[in-house]
Amino acid sequence: MRLAVLGFSHEANTFAPVPATLDQWRRAGILEGERIRDVYEASRTSVAGFLAYGAEAHGVELIPLVYARITPMGPSTSEAHEHLVTRMVASLVDRGPWDGVLLPIHGAAVAEGCPDADGDLIRRVRGIVGPDVPIGATLDLHANVSRTMVDHLDVVTVYQTNPHVDAYEQALACARLLGRTIRAEIRPRLALVTPPLAVTIVRQGTDDEPMASLLAVARSEEARPGVLSVSVVEGFPYADVPEMGMSFLAVADRDDAIARAAADRVARAAWEMRAEFVGEAVPVDEALFRAAAALAGPVVLLDIGDNVGGGSPGDSTHILHAARRLGVRGLAQLLTDPVAVSRCAEAGVGGRVSLDVGGRTDDRHGTPLAVTGVVTAVTDGRFEDPTPTHGGVRSYDMGPTAGLRTDDGFDLVLTSVAEATHSQEQFRLVGVEPRECPVIVAKGVHSPRAGFEPIAAELIQVATPGSTSADLSTFRYARRRRPMFPFEPTTQWSAR
Ligand SMILES: [Zn+2]
Repeated sequence: MRLAVLGFSHEANTFAPVPATLDQWRRAGILEGERIRDVYEASRTSVAGFLAYGAEAHGVELIPLVYARITPMGPSTSEAHEHLVTRMVASLVDRGPWDGVLLPIHGAAVAEGCPDADGDLIRRVRGIVGPDVPIGATLDLHANVSRTMVDHLDVVTVYQTNPHVDAYEQALACARLLGRTIRAEIRPRLALVTPPLAVTIVRQGTDDEPMASLLAVARSEEARPGVLSVSVVEGFPYADVPEMGMSFLAVADRDDAIARAAADRVARAAWEMRAEFVGEAVPVDEALFRAAAALAGPVVLLDIGDNVGGGSPGDSTHILHAARRLGVRGLAQLLTDPVAVSRCAEAGVGGRVSLDVGGRTDDRHGTPLAVTGVVTAVTDGRFEDPTPTHGGVRSYDMGPTAGLRTDDGFDLVLTSVAEATHSQEQFRLVGVEPRECPVIVAKGVHSPRAGFEPIAAELIQVATPGSTSADLSTFRYARRRRPMFPFEPTTQWSAR
């Protein structure tokens, strides 16, 4: 049994300032062949989960073809999207025929002129392999699932944790279902239900209510006879596309009605709890007062508006400016600023510098902050973290990176590439021990929790402005469905 593994992972924020150009994709890495195995096999990503099926199942060969993963940012340019899809499709043709195809994709990719970029890839893969070769995909919990995706897939599984710590397990489950499909042990039927419903970022944690209860409903549906898999998909609200929103997927053996009923029941449960999907974060000053007053640290301030994992640039200074104004010291954080990194590298470790940091992208993410301080480290920004982190990633590359301790008590990790705050090692890399930091500002909402919850005295969701603001009323949508909850609060919907 020969199974191809290929795909791209891109969560596209249509409100983000930086597009995913072909250069950006190349910098992130468009990997081919065995190089994919080298980079991902030891991780806990969905790619690793697919590859693990090859090791587990007798007589199954997993063949990695092309894989590209990029930090969430704006939509791909049409040049980048065409380049990626063309290369993927060409490798499928060259190396075929196939018994099955496995796609480790995100599900919220958007390209210029192509609002459903994942659907476009899946449709074109189907065009190559034909109707009889099963295709399976594993999606991120933040996928905006389209009818096109489902129409051309045989099997789909979705991460069911946020932070995402089950990518590997979901991919392995998908591969097992695909293997059983190829051996004609099952004949999967898919159902997709898409109520007009979005969930705000502050209510997306899967260990918290209301999401924990909703996932419990999905797990009980999954236990019914004939049901192979049931997924809650939170959706990605920062994409102005028709598919934006929550969705519910079920896979059943041979029976459309069983699949549809399972997906309907979970969707109905979600709709009934929709008022709980609206939540608010804590204002910046209040969050800083709480952090400063805490008896023990570190208090982790989750900078929602500059959530790099949702497509923000990582150089927001709103919290830094407020901390300076309020006299809060002992604050450590990452900040994307390649210009400042160069200045620090020139000064060298131990050198004193006066410079502006952050706030370079646009006004939504704040203005530059003038600082004076000492360079504490200069590194290539590469490190490994074998502990559980969001998405199961193990190898990180933040580009040239510098540590800067400012005279007013901030420890800044200045990076060349935008990187979400996922790992304690991001601080240790520049000699800062995160356990000893009174306050850590993390550029993320749920994703930092896997790495930082073990040491945090408290985590506070902070209502900062930006291209990933918790307040969805700050975004202008032209393409989303209308009416839709919570944008139009009186929206009506009922399951079939
Ligand atoms: Zn996600």
